[in-house]
Formats: sequence, C-alpha cells, structure tokens
Amino acid sequence: MTWLDPPEGTGFGLDDLPLGVFSTRGGPRRTGVAVGDAVLDLGGLTEDPVHLSGSLNAFLALGPRAWRELREQVTDWLTQPSCRRGVEPHLLPRDGVRMHLPVEVADYVDFYSSRHHAANLGRILRPGTPPLSANWLHLPIGYHGRAGTVAVSGTPVVRPCGQRRADDGPVFGPTQRLDIEAEVGFVVGTPTELGVRVPVEDLAEHVFGVCLVDDWSARDLQAWEYVPLGPFLGKSFLTSVSPWVVPLAALEAARVAPPPRDVPLQPYLRDDAAPWGLDLALEVRLNGEVVSRPPFAPMYWTPAQQLAHLTVNGARLRTGDLFASGTVSGPDRDQSGSLIELTEGGTEPIRLADGSVRTFLEDGDVVTIGATAPGAGGGRLSLGEVSGRVEPAR
Ligand code: CA
Repeated sequence: MTWLDPPEGTGFGLDDLPLGVFSTRGGPRRTGVAVGDAVLDLGGLTEDPVHLSGSLNAFLALGPRAWRELREQVTDWLTQPSCRRGVEPHLLPRDGVRMHLPVEVADYVDFYSSRHHAANLGRILRPGTPPLSANWLHLPIGYHGRAGTVAVSGTPVVRPCGQRRADDGPVFGPTQRLDIEAEVGFVVGTPTELGVRVPVEDLAEHVFGVCLVDDWSARDLQAWEYVPLGPFLGKSFLTSVSPWVVPLAALEAARVAPPPRDVPLQPYLRDDAAPWGLDLALEVRLNGEVVSRPPFAPMYWTPAQQLAHLTVNGARLRTGDLFASGTVSGPDRDQSGSLIELTEGGTEPIRLADGSVRTFLEDGDVVTIGATAPGAGGGRLSLGEVSGRVEPAR
C-alpha cells in the first residue's frame, strides 16, 4: 500500500529512487530523491549534515550499508500512510527546483568498452588496418579524463577551439566536427587504500550508482592530437552528466551476462560467477528527434571488469570517482552512440524531420540522451536524461 503513486510517464517510480543535489530560488544546495514529478528534500526532512553538504560525496563515503538503509527508509517514508504528514511538506515539485552537479568528481576515467564502437572507429579512422587494436580483447582500454570539466546536464556546450590538420599544415579555430558520445557513468562511493585491488565481485561494495554521460568530442582536434598519448583537448572542454544518480540497487532486474569472450581472460577479469552486464536502453535525440537507440547489453566489458582493471595496479579509489563506459554503440548503424558513426565519418549525412541535414553538430543544436532499464516490478525504470545545447565558439 502506498500513499504516493507517481503519475505514469514521469520517469522515476518507487523502484528507482535516484539521488541528486538541488536548490530552490537561490537557497542552499541539498540532497534530494526524485519520485514521480516530485523531489523529496532529504536535507530538509532529515536535517542530517550529510544531506546538506551540497554534494552526494559525504553520503556516498558512508558505504553500502548506509546506502541500503537510506533506500529502505525512503521507501517507508513514501509508502507508509503513517509517514505521510511528516514527509509531505518536504515533497517539492520537480520542475521548480534547480539541479546541480550531483558529485564532486574526484578522478574521471573514460573507457572504450563497446566492441561495435571500437570497430566502427577503427574502420573509419584507420582504414586498411585491423579494426580492433591488438590489446582490445584482453583488457578494458581507458584513459584519464579531466574531472574539473565534468558538468551537470544543461551546461552550455561552447564550441571549443583548437588545432586541426589541414592540407598546408595545422590551423587554429573552432572545431568543425563537434560530436557526442552517449555513455553510461559509474559513481564510486567507497574508497580504497593505495595498493588494494578491487575484485570483479566487489563492484557493488564500491560503486553507488549510475548516471548518463555525454562525452562531447571535437573529432578534428582529436584526430590531430591523439597520437601517441590519446585524447586530450578534443575531449576535455566538457563532459556532461545527468543530475540524478540511479542506485545500482535499483538495477538488479537489468543485470545480464555480457557477450561471449573471444579469448580467455586474465583471472582478475573473469566474471562468470557474477556478471555485471546491464540491459539498459539508451536513446539519443537531436533537436527533439530520435536519431539513435544504443543498447547497453552488448557492451563487451562490464563496469565490474572496468573497476577491477582500474585498480589492478594498486591505484586507489576516492569517493566521487567517475568512470564511464565509453561510447555505447550496438551492431546496427541506428544504434550508434556518436555522429561520426551515424554519418560514417561525416560522409553520409543524416536528414532530420525539418529537412535539414547533419554530419556533425551545428550551433544551436540540442542533444539529449535518455535511458531506461527493466524495473523490479516488471515495468521499466528511468535513468533520467543528460542534455546540452551547442553555443558558438568564443
Ligand atoms: Ca568517450
């Protein structure tokens, strides 16, 4: 029995309960839970300093037992009629609050875990060579990104300037190949000591939850700079994340086995006992029009393997670490998580409903990435959205 029945179609049901950081009319930032079209003001309801600190970090650092207890408590508050009088004054209309970056990001790592994406980019960018690099099937490839330019959904995407290759040598100016990368991000709560490895079985001991990530990419800057040390300024101008972090605990019904492996894995990456593939359905909209539906289930490397690999050399975890899956692309063209794939390297433009065509993003374009997952009750739960509008170069 519940006294709060979230209206259909508002996204966040009682089996979801994502956490975020919000404010109202210039007031202080505090932690909230999204439910239906409301935000439950945890800061105001509990007056617990952990929920009044302006980021989720203090709560995430408390670890999985505290995460589980809060989830149970919030469920009781929202479903027990006896709680109604105390809780109702702290339910605020969601469209009246301002959302902030949920987590003070410690380190940011971006992986490259979709086989389809890696093979597509290999084919487009390195024709005539094997699409997958020799290491790809043996380890989850990643790089360290720029934590300081991770920003909340809605942050303007100012077209970055930089060097790109031209016929007579490099030129400087605004990127001409601004792209998206639709990804899923994993937020670390429980830290580790230096030298400690996290085994694949321990994902849920360390990762609190999941957000959506748009890893904005300037393909022309990237192509000129990335050899030999990998992505740098072509990526670091902005990485957008969704404001609501969906707890891993909400995604139990979404767990699936990852695709079969081509080669035997090193023992620290073997995950047969408790695989962490996730059956998430992503959707990419350009100016409101769906241009792609990338499936997450075919991702070759799982977040558990990514975390095990990230720490196998003894690198420590900090509360607020964010690691992203890499571009999510399925086997079909219209399941691609980037424009460079959707347009075959910019050679086959996509046509939008208004008659205009796109290869890469134009000023004024708005890109929104959303996702859903199977919920505990048989329906689907929302992972929210991450969105950004392109503004002219400065
Ligand atoms: Ca990426």
